[in-house]
Amino acid sequence: MTTTVRAWHAELAWLPGRGVCPDVLIEAAGDRFTAVTPEVRADDIRDDLRAGVTRLPGLTLPGLANAHSHAFHRALRGITQVGLGTFWTWRERMYQVAAGLNPDSYLALARAVYAEMALAGITCVGEFHYLHHGPEGVPYADPNEMGKAVIAAAAQAGIRITLLDTCYLSGGLSPDGPQPLTGSQLRFGDGDGEAWAARAEALGADEHGLLGPLARAGAAIHSVRAVPLDQMHPVIAWAQRYGAPLHAHLSEQRAENKASLAAYRRTPAEVLYDAGALGPRATAVHATHLVGHDVDLLGGSRTYACFCPTTEADLADGIGPARALATAGCPLTLGSDSQAVIDLFEEARRVELDERLASGQRGHFRAGELARAATTDGHASLGWPDAGEIAAGAIADLVTVALDSPRLAGATRKTALASVVFAASAADVRHVVVGGQELVQDGRHRLVEDVPAALSAAIRQVLG
Ligand SMILES: [Zn+2]
Repeated sequence: MTTTVRAWHAELAWLPGRGVCPDVLIEAAGDRFTAVTPEVRADDIRDDLRAGVTRLPGLTLPGLANAHSHAFHRALRGITQVGLGTFWTWRERMYQVAAGLNPDSYLALARAVYAEMALAGITCVGEFHYLHHGPEGVPYADPNEMGKAVIAAAAQAGIRITLLDTCYLSGGLSPDGPQPLTGSQLRFGDGDGEAWAARAEALGADEHGLLGPLARAGAAIHSVRAVPLDQMHPVIAWAQRYGAPLHAHLSEQRAENKASLAAYRRTPAEVLYDAGALGPRATAVHATHLVGHDVDLLGGSRTYACFCPTTEADLADGIGPARALATAGCPLTLGSDSQAVIDLFEEARRVELDERLASGQRGHFRAGELARAATTDGHASLGWPDAGEIAAGAIADLVTVALDSPRLAGATRKTALASVVFAASAADVRHVVVGGQELVQDGRHRLVEDVPAALSAAIRQVLG
């Protein structure tokens, strides 16, 4: 078998430890970069590469990692603003969509959503997947049919996926014990933690946690509301066995803190810490309403903190302490979560902008720190530590942002990274490479020809 050798010549590229460099020659063999050389003029490219080299005008970044996604929520975009659009109109509609999905419609919807992500420069998604079973909670013939549909969707859309298979056992917490699941929630439940682990085991990950060339397995505890403390251990043990990522929603709403304090006399962060769920392979998603020494528990354990600012704004969750978490030791990551929009540049800048609104001061994060959240740290939090950097030996995923759009015209080499982080939109992504292969060329997806049509057909099928 011969390995495909590829080369790109980036007008500007953001390189680890060097910042934005001009005229970067990027070479790959198979799915890995083999050499990254800045300041190579077009005329100086070696003869053996010159004919096949792809020019990348604009700023080239490592592929973007979307660390927190619920693909099916994409069907809710726009329709939950009916009337004034309260939290309850959103949740009601979310349960309706969940109730109507089957493996075929889920595959079609997730494929289109992941294609939308690819067009936005996202080369890796962490799918926080909890819609496991059929109506009334009856398992499918293969109890992992829905998870496998999601993995197939990512493969068909050409992006990497970490399936964060989610344990979701109860409808809420009360001092009298966990509340039973009802209605659509029945589709989320496995019964108990051991049954969750048996199903996750049947996904068939190899010893490295891989489910395919572009897919790996991870685990999730939905939240302290949905997984009783005495059921968390099998999930944590399963993740440990595979060295797999372990994610959990944390303190998204104040009501969760209240319920946790009433049931356990501990905050949700304290509950996860005491259960052994925090650490350098763990991600706390949202981490909005932290109190007491929660920030120290998360930072001290090097837990990732995943911010999803457009969703947190859409659902009126609040603004989490991003700077305090980062300073305490939490690497930050970003997620599109409810798919209110799919645009990691928007998520990245909002981390800084929300901090400004909350503090009344500018200047909390450098553009490079926000870019790192969207790339290197996002990938590492999903179990792909060798992706997310343009460096020899790393996985060959790239995204190129055009600098000649109305939003970015005027950007220079010096401002390019800050211009992109603070002003680009997903629509400025021109070129995307996954595993050394072109996935998006000149703004067109090569595997899903008409992404808007695929989205529209899939959403119509789901909403009826
Ligand atoms: Zn979520």
